[in-house]
Amino acid sequence: MELKQYEFWFVVGSQDLYGPQVLDTVDRRAREMTDALNASGLLPCPLVYKLTAKTNAEIQDLVRQANYDPRCAGMVAWCHTFSPSKMWINGLASLQKPYCHLATQYHREIPNEEIDMDFMNLNQAAHGDREHGFLGARLRLPRKIIAGHWQDPQVQRHLGQWMRAAAGVQFSRTLKVMRFGDNMREVAVTEGDKVEVQARLGWQVNTWPVGQLVETMASVTDQEIAALMERYRASYDFATDDLDAVSYQAREEIAIRRMLDREGCLAFSNNFQDLYGMRQLPGLATQHLLAQGYGYGGEGDWKVAAMTAILKFMSQGMDGGTAFMEDYTYHLAPDGSYSLGAHMLEVCPSVAAQRPRIEVHPLGIGDREPPARLVFEGHPGSAIVVSLIDMGGRLRLICQDIQCVKPILPMPNLPVARVMWQAKPDLTTGLECWLTAGGAHHTVLSYDVTAEQMRDWARMMDMEFVHITDGTTQEALERDLFLADLAWKLK
Ligand code: MN
Repeated sequence: MELKQYEFWFVVGSQDLYGPQVLDTVDRRAREMTDALNASGLLPCPLVYKLTAKTNAEIQDLVRQANYDPRCAGMVAWCHTFSPSKMWINGLASLQKPYCHLATQYHREIPNEEIDMDFMNLNQAAHGDREHGFLGARLRLPRKIIAGHWQDPQVQRHLGQWMRAAAGVQFSRTLKVMRFGDNMREVAVTEGDKVEVQARLGWQVNTWPVGQLVETMASVTDQEIAALMERYRASYDFATDDLDAVSYQAREEIAIRRMLDREGCLAFSNNFQDLYGMRQLPGLATQHLLAQGYGYGGEGDWKVAAMTAILKFMSQGMDGGTAFMEDYTYHLAPDGSYSLGAHMLEVCPSVAAQRPRIEVHPLGIGDREPPARLVFEGHPGSAIVVSLIDMGGRLRLICQDIQCVKPILPMPNLPVARVMWQAKPDLTTGLECWLTAGGAHHTVLSYDVTAEQMRDWARMMDMEFVHITDGTTQEALERDLFLADLAWKLK
């Protein structure tokens, strides 16, 4: 699924009061601005100028089309002139697509000699946008507001980032998740209300028997396996002689992908307690599928599988990397605290600092043969970790800022991919906040998606958002969670 297949509709607010000459100028400038924004290279999807709106009927008609058109991932509005907001009410009250209010103006600076009453009539964004802002607030419209000059790369980048989050909303609404088996026995945080999630987020989460995967594996040909082994060789170093174990992972990958593609699923989960008929837990197989953009969650965690797919989609074309992650253990030294993230096997190589190695080691749990897996270190850089939890009656999205580092220890006997980071505001405060909010051990770690984009996504999805930042204190967080709990119960 391509991010570029979505488009965003640009609508410029005005009214008939100003006469055709002003409206022609507004229309011409809107086209010029659209062309410039598209040419900036900072928007991931095309912006399509639709109209300069002058009436209630025009806006309602455009919103109806936007709701109906699956390519339209959102609307971007701006008021070049004053645009009385009552004519926007009927349209915006029925809008089902993400909405961005771009508060800009055509001219960058006030032209000292040129400015007169004609100029003032034409260039009224400063108060036209305030009328529009009032209506958004009055309607409680979930909206993104971006202010600044449209030629400023900062503004263009900001709009582009919002587009990625909004496209993530559309992606979410069509996402299908394939579950192999159920969740790991007795685990609470990986559970959740799949009916509620489908109603709110659109996810279709369904189960397929592991036996069907085993049958599909049996139908994979030697030629298909050989071709995939060549792809492994092109991307990874083979640090094992056990080619049988590696080719078994290739067989698993081909079979899982065949089932995913047949059902139109872009994320999957499995559980090491339910591998009946399989010789190895998929490791390398899952990692290579993750590298191709599929979402994955271990131990039946379908929520993190879906979130991984969504963040991967939102960051398509970027190169920082996004991975299914798990907090494993801490380094609580007086001179510096670190979190070590890893998983039994399935960390995505998109976050690797160097060319991953394929290794084969025993697993210790799951009662299967030693699986082949990719081993590597995650690269340094600022990132976020994200966890979606079911609070009973509503969802909470928790996002924490982190700073990834080159692992401070080589850990030569750790047989899995690993990422090391310093959590914000610091390890122990961050941990206290994370536990207070109820964040899971499974997360999505992304170097590309920002906390602001997750906040945008959560707002559009109508869910609670908790952000643990450099400035978060446990006291403030507790108060915020208490108030949010009251508010969300009333909603
Ligand atoms: Mn796990």
